[in-house]
Amino acid sequence: MARDTCTVGIDLGGTNIVFGLVTPQGELIHHFSHPTEGHKGPDRVMQNILDGIEEIMQAGVGGRINGIGLGSPGAIDTESGLVIECAPNIPDWTGRQIRTPIVERFGLPTFVDNDAKMAVIGEAVFGAGAGYRHLFVVTLGTGIGGGVVLNGRIHRGAFFCAGEIGHAAVQINGRRCVCGKDGHLEAYASAKGIVGLTRELLEQGRKSALTSMAEKNEEGLTAKLVLDAARSGDEVALEVVNLAAHYLGMALAHFAMVFDPDIMVVSGGLALAGEILFRPMNEAYTRYLFYQSIRQAPIVPARMGFEAGMVGAAAMAMIELGLEGPETRP
Ligand SMILES: [Zn+2]
Repeated sequence: MARDTCTVGIDLGGTNIVFGLVTPQGELIHHFSHPTEGHKGPDRVMQNILDGIEEIMQAGVGGRINGIGLGSPGAIDTESGLVIECAPNIPDWTGRQIRTPIVERFGLPTFVDNDAKMAVIGEAVFGAGAGYRHLFVVTLGTGIGGGVVLNGRIHRGAFFCAGEIGHAAVQINGRRCVCGKDGHLEAYASAKGIVGLTRELLEQGRKSALTSMAEKNEEGLTAKLVLDAARSGDEVALEVVNLAAHYLGMALAHFAMVFDPDIMVVSGGLALAGEILFRPMNEAYTRYLFYQSIRQAPIVPARMGFEAGMVGAAAMAMIELGLEGPETRP
């Protein structure tokens, strides 16, 4: 691909839409964000997307535009461009056709997928997974998401649901997950799970510095606070973080057993936790891993931040256009 061509990457969120211009080398040369305005209805959201594309194309940077990638919340039929199912953070987004309006207006090849999948592609192509063919990216945020890359291509699955490791069961009769089922990883190792688990221990009367730390904190008890307390040796916080890390390592060992990846990448807010999470996670991972002597798939923190979704949307378009991606690397 010529060096003066760029790809537009768009990350549609519940609050903001982020637009970026990405070079074939994954460099973000221009970006801005606009409010989503989901409360004004799905037509307005689509209009805001189209206006943002117009704006970025007229910005006069990056030369020729070769394609557009759009990441949207929800389950997306990547072939038809339809939003199959979307959480209510963008009202009435379910059932919308999100690719056709872009193609009709700009006449450029356009690719749509789930926003978390786009972030996975960003991390896989231009972040910590760059150069690897088989990888897994697990995103630890309020919830837990994930994405699978096999042979340099994102693996979406028969029902566009592949990679949902957050809902892997790790405990019999365990904590209730937000999805309504019991003992899922997300109920222990997501930010919400960590806070919930800590709260349960405190309600049982366990003594912890977290009680006063939460009182002084504007947002009350948070996962960050629990990690901070664990670092300073607080017993309750350590118990929660070690349990979360243990289940995470266990789930990643399960994934490695089935898919045999080169590498696994941990992204999202909790990936910044460092050794306090990674050490016990790695201990559990090696404890459960089969064929450990020949499997050399490390678990590493992500390299990209907020831009992963936007850069990933552009990377997805590049891959689909046959211009970039892990499979083109040596
Ligand atoms: Zn669940």
